[in-house]
Amino acid sequence: MSIQLNSVTKIYGNQKAINTISFSAKKGEIVGFLGPNGAGKSTTMKILTGFIKPNEGTVLVDDINVVNNPIDAQKRIGYLPEHNPLYTDMYVKEYLQFHADIHNIKTININDVISKVGLGKEAHKKINQLSKGYRQRVGLAAAILHDPSILILDEPTTGLDPNQLVEIRNLIKDLGKNKTVLFSTHIMQEVEAVCNRVIIINNGEIVIDKQLNELKENNEQIITIAFDYKIEEQFLQRLPNVTNIKNNFDNSWTLTFTSEEDMRPKLFDFAQEHELKILELNSENKNLESLFRELTSSK
Ligand code: ADP
Repeated sequence: MSIQLNSVTKIYGNQKAINTISFSAKKGEIVGFLGPNGAGKSTTMKILTGFIKPNEGTVLVDDINVVNNPIDAQKRIGYLPEHNPLYTDMYVKEYLQFHADIHNIKTININDVISKVGLGKEAHKKINQLSKGYRQRVGLAAAILHDPSILILDEPTTGLDPNQLVEIRNLIKDLGKNKTVLFSTHIMQEVEAVCNRVIIINNGEIVIDKQLNELKENNEQIITIAFDYKIEEQFLQRLPNVTNIKNNFDNSWTLTFTSEEDMRPKLFDFAQEHELKILELNSENKNLESLFRELTSSK
């Protein structure tokens, strides 16, 4: 395994930031590490990269113990921190060369890395002349200079405009083909667009760890419906595949069905059969977004 965390806990003062977290990831996986602000994403990433030590648990990257051998572990890791600390008055090439020098990376062709991250036409500029999207490319270039097998990217797309967003997502997907990528975000759509696996963290604990395909197979349908007059809940229980019934107000109901079949035609038939009129109908599949909300809402 490229990344392995076993029962890792980190406490700041009396604040438990992460609580007995365990997961592993292998080459070719782009893992979306998803959670609301304060969930523990950055803490986990800083522990993985050896910048802070856990109170308990073991952390291995490419089978190297990060706590005992942080320098060796860091050679395997490319890290893009949340607030990418770029020296903004340096030129792009100068910055990358500087980065290579301080990390004693000798065998790198800076121009190859520049073209790999699509910085070509901006490479002659100073970093402070670049857009946020291009600055992220510089950060990614710096992170892959030593050809690490693992990429740890802390909220790499925050603050990008929609075009930059698509470009950086594609770049990460491309870089991730033969690496292990852990990609943190608080936005579910990010995970859907980039990752093949999702780990959701909330209040310092992992609440879900699944392949994206598995999650997409969820076949719950939620239908909000309003009839023209008031009916009893028992009446709606006659509907096929209905697993939950909630009265919103007056004649409005939220019905949950577990079925691969589209339940809307069935509802029209049901209404007609019982001489009801449908005044409103809204259908949504229980998507990843609603799952994320459900798993991370404070109870
Ligand atoms: P996320 O990256 O998911 O937003 P963090 O890992 O930054 O979450 O934070 C997890 C929890 O730990 C939060 O409650 C945060 O306030 C707390 N925390 C993070 N860093 C520190 C620190 N250096 N000192 C004290 N508390 C911290």
